[in-house]
Amino acid sequence: MAGTKTLTIIKPDAVRKENIGPILEKINGNGFHIAALKLIHLNRGQAERFYAVHRDKFFFEGLVNFMTSGQVVVAILEKENAVADYRRLMGTTDPAKAEEGTLRKLFAESMERNAVHGSDSDENAETECDFFFARSERFSNFEG
Ligand code: ATP
Ligand code: MG
Repeated sequence: MAGTKTLTIIKPDAVRKENIGPILEKINGNGFHIAALKLIHLNRGQAERFYAVHRDKFFFEGLVNFMTSGQVVVAILEKENAVADYRRLMGTTDPAKAEEGTLRKLFAESMERNAVHGSDSDENAETECDFFFARSERFSNFEG
């Protein structure tokens, strides 16, 4: 059975443009429950660890610079089939190719400044939720 939670980050480009509210409205409007949420400013070590799988990619340095350039919102979203449904709501990584109505079509600037992050598997969702939130900071509809 598919998992019921995913980790999202509203990235610094979207926070700077005052798009936290509009993005959260879309998230709730598409059936996701917010189980945890906070506004933080990532330091370099956190951004490097969070994106460690991309360490060897040409865009890694730029990505870490961008993700530490301002505040981000991190949140745990809950819904049946959360990972796949949220990736559909986000749209493709490149906003120029994102489908109409998706978060990246509506709010992203570029491949790097693409407004939102979403976990790409149930396993990574678990890891990413634990990365940002203690169990005591979560209010799950599914886990009691
Ligand atoms: P995310 O992991 O942020 O949800 P994603 O799974 O669609 O997005 P990944 O391939 O995991 O994309 O890349 C992680 C992030 O790295 C992207 O969201 C984007 O910000 C950045 N990125 C990926 N590819 C490029 C690229 N070619 N040029 C610049 N930045 C990139
Ligand atoms: Mg990814």
